[in-house]
Amino acid sequence: MVQIVKNATLVNGATVDIVIDNQRIVEVAETTTVQGDVIFDAAGMYVSPGWIDLHTHAFPKYKPYCAIPDQIGYKTGVTTIVDAGSSGADNVDEFYQIAQAAKTRVFAFLNISRIGLMRQDELSDLGNLSFDAIQQTVEKYPQFIVGLKARMSASVVCGNGIQPLIIAETFRNKLALPLMVHVGTAPPELSKVLSYMKKGDILTHCYHEKENNHIFREDGSVEPSLLDAIDRGVYLDVGHGSSSFSFRIAQKAKQQGVYFDSLGTDIYQNNQKNGPVYNMETTLSKFLALGYSLEEVIEAVTIKPAKILSKPELGSLQPGSIADLTFFTVKETSKKLTDSFGASIHGDSLINAEAVIIGGNYVELEKSD
Ligand SMILES: [Zn+2]
Repeated sequence: MVQIVKNATLVNGATVDIVIDNQRIVEVAETTTVQGDVIFDAAGMYVSPGWIDLHTHAFPKYKPYCAIPDQIGYKTGVTTIVDAGSSGADNVDEFYQIAQAAKTRVFAFLNISRIGLMRQDELSDLGNLSFDAIQQTVEKYPQFIVGLKARMSASVVCGNGIQPLIIAETFRNKLALPLMVHVGTAPPELSKVLSYMKKGDILTHCYHEKENNHIFREDGSVEPSLLDAIDRGVYLDVGHGSSSFSFRIAQKAKQQGVYFDSLGTDIYQNNQKNGPVYNMETTLSKFLALGYSLEEVIEAVTIKPAKILSKPELGSLQPGSIADLTFFTVKETSKKLTDSFGASIHGDSLINAEAVIIGGNYVELEKSD
């Protein structure tokens, strides 16, 4: 069945009709001559490829890093979520079942620790790092598992320092999957973590401000190992979360030309309900307030994460792409926006997700306010 969306505005300002057939984009044009069902007149709304959140926690089993996939997914304009290591080889079966039942497209970075986030010190026991268990899981779920996740901060690795990352890099080399690495409080130090990361890997929590281990050295210059990593093709993910996003670091990074690639929220139950994350819309609005353009922030939740995932058909409006779409408005208003360290700035352009198309269905979103 041919479906047509009329009069949607692209982030570059052009107004277009979008033709969809069999859940694929057929045409995006100023006006179309193709005949079909007009499913939606999007006059006054922006359209983009369906938003992709590269860093979420969507496995409801283990508190506190849990959320319900659809509650952080399509209901907030995010048509694809990637879970960042909530499950490992021992518990991914259960997560896979939950993911399959969701309307939202769900992928997973598999925790290198087989227990996942059953405990928050999942890398304290190196006995939990089993290549055989990971390999079997990847072979079982080749479409679902898009990479590996290693949380490299003091409270997770305990006395093991950099060791879990050295092991994880041997796994990622054998499996040819990207590795998402979380950084936080040292040890291990950021420079040491970065020295092991390869092209295609993802550094998450890139704008955190935990003492002595963020991307700026004491003299205010950018940590040189970060610049080397970016040159090698390591990606930067924001990974906002409850304690990992600082306006001060993000502002300084922008001034010094250190740009994020993807705008993962690191959303989970608590920071969705009580902030400071709330949802993707709020996270996007924060980056508008930091001076990034609408094109730049939308790229960071569409084209760029799709590239990182090697799934270009998800982040594009080109003919043949998957017809996941997010419709949104930008309201000129004023709102106090808060980071993870208690600092706030005023946003005067707020992004609101209004509707999505996912799995061939048009869904108007319920608004909480
Ligand atoms: Zn996370």
